[in-house]
Amino acid sequence: MKMPIALAEERRESSLSSKVIPKARREGPGAPNLADYDQARREFSWERARRELDGLPGGGGLNICHEAVDRHAAGPLRDHLAIRWLGKNGEISGTTYGQLLRLTSRFANLLRSLGVAKGDRVFVLAGRIPELYIAALGTLKHRVVFCPLFSAFGPEPIRARLAIGRAKVLVTTQSLYERKIKPLRAQLPFLEHIILIGEGHQTADVPGTMDYSRSMAEASDSYTIEPTDPEDAALLHFTSGTTGTPKGALHVHEAVVAHHITGKLALDFHPNDIFWCTADPGWVTGTSYGIIAPLTSGITSIVDEGDFDPARWYEILQSHKVTVWYSAPTAIRMLMKAGTDLVHRYDLRSLRFLSSVGEPLNSEAVLWSQEAFGLPFHDNWWQTETGGIMIANFASMDVRPGSMGRPLPGIEAAIVREKEDGSVEEIREPGAEGELALRPGWPSMFRAYWEDSARYKKCFAGGFYLTGDLARQDGDGYFWFVGRKDDVIKTSGHLVGPFEVESALLEHKAVAESAVIGKPDPVALEIVKAFVVLRAGFQPGEELLRELLGFARTRLGAAIAPREIEFVNSLPRTRSGKIMRRLLKARELGLPEGDISTLEAGYVHG
Ligand code: ATP
Ligand code: MG
Repeated sequence: MKMPIALAEERRESSLSSKVIPKARREGPGAPNLADYDQARREFSWERARRELDGLPGGGGLNICHEAVDRHAAGPLRDHLAIRWLGKNGEISGTTYGQLLRLTSRFANLLRSLGVAKGDRVFVLAGRIPELYIAALGTLKHRVVFCPLFSAFGPEPIRARLAIGRAKVLVTTQSLYERKIKPLRAQLPFLEHIILIGEGHQTADVPGTMDYSRSMAEASDSYTIEPTDPEDAALLHFTSGTTGTPKGALHVHEAVVAHHITGKLALDFHPNDIFWCTADPGWVTGTSYGIIAPLTSGITSIVDEGDFDPARWYEILQSHKVTVWYSAPTAIRMLMKAGTDLVHRYDLRSLRFLSSVGEPLNSEAVLWSQEAFGLPFHDNWWQTETGGIMIANFASMDVRPGSMGRPLPGIEAAIVREKEDGSVEEIREPGAEGELALRPGWPSMFRAYWEDSARYKKCFAGGFYLTGDLARQDGDGYFWFVGRKDDVIKTSGHLVGPFEVESALLEHKAVAESAVIGKPDPVALEIVKAFVVLRAGFQPGEELLRELLGFARTRLGAAIAPREIEFVNSLPRTRSGKIMRRLLKARELGLPEGDISTLEAGYVHG
């Protein structure tokens, strides 16, 4: 990455990013777990964090399922609700830690009876239904690698991932099987077992498959976890494919130390919390925080099978008395669109802590949540590769809207730049832009890109893991996202991160969403082009176009403001909700679209 230095004097800070939302003042049992940031960093060690977990009895190592389920089921939390299930047709049920112990043991025994052994891969292709969660934890219990697939994938992305991971077992529903797997079966010779779950169908007669309910009923509900080396493979997660072909990141059982401690410090889990992570386990957030972290903390998780719907979401928050809520910027921006009045129709006083991940969280969204919920969304940053939260706005710190926060205790983050000779140097000057880098060594760091060691090696230089994201750090240690290395725009000697431009446009009342790309230009190298989705009630037209161009120029300065704006009806996103700027660019330039396996269905250009 060789980059010219951005010219700071021409860059106008977004008017909102200088605002601060003061930290919540809570004392007594509800006080933030991380009370004093500097002290927590000083006193932190991963060995100490590891001691918050139990380890397998008799020094048998560390197993994610033991920490999440078995140890609680053997103690006072046995009858505590582990997961509250909300079905898409309004059904509600619950599973206690004691019940989860027996169910995951049955699944582990079922795998054993099939000859599935340590290190093999079990894939699950399903919506957010109980069996997915039982299969995930039972798989980990049996020391087999769990790999979730997003249920809305088409047949080809499913085939590719099953093939890359050499799946031995696939757990899926009958309808997904009929529609997506059966036509591919001949191309999946390595796949030995297909287990069909859910939907109340009689599945026993589907040739070439097994029935989950029957097999589970036949399996014993007692299982002793075999010694598990903390370095044993546990999870294979595919990245979102925002910047290219998705990569398979491999994580080990030791990752649970990071899942647990980040749940405690960054999501501020307290005993008796009701936690709702809205992410699907098809993405890493839905596993690290949608399954593992709340369970290791012994709290109750909400799992909602249904799709996004503002009124239904508020209803869930209200009726299940959710205390900690973890969501994503796309959802938050859609909630903003639905309006503040809607929020105020619900009693949401149980909410204590709001948090967001996955994309940059615009300062507008943070300020809106403060107005709507009386609480700010706390942005945090991490990746599939990091396995857990790395940078966060903590409950005990003032929130700087638009900032990702500060590194977790135990995490060393830095801004680095590649020198002419290819080596990497850290830049300590506050405000300087560069690549966000982390010192390797935290427990949930990925151990490999599946079958791509060359690519894995390329992520490390100068003693750092290079994240592929650009950021800057202010004088107080807060990190600010600039853009992905691949998305950054080089225009007339400046480096422009799309996020800054998108956030400035979002401050205009007509703008619901925007995505910014660099468009090749013979003079400027690239010009900044913005795609804008308007809020309801605003019409595209010359006048609004001129107004927005002028608005952005005043906010950002002429060098950085978009030169072109195009009004569009929607933006292309991954199924995990991330804007695919590379696709906008490819289409703008008439270039091949690349891997679009994770593109959300129904997107129409224009
Ligand atoms: P691919 O690597 O296949 O292109 P991806 O990077 O989108 O896909 P994920 O691992 O799911 O796959 O996403 C991690 C990325 O999401 C980060 O590298 C960053 O670009 C973005 N991201 C996550 N959280 C934040 C945040 N709080 N602010 C800004 N960006 C974020
Ligand atoms: Mg990535």
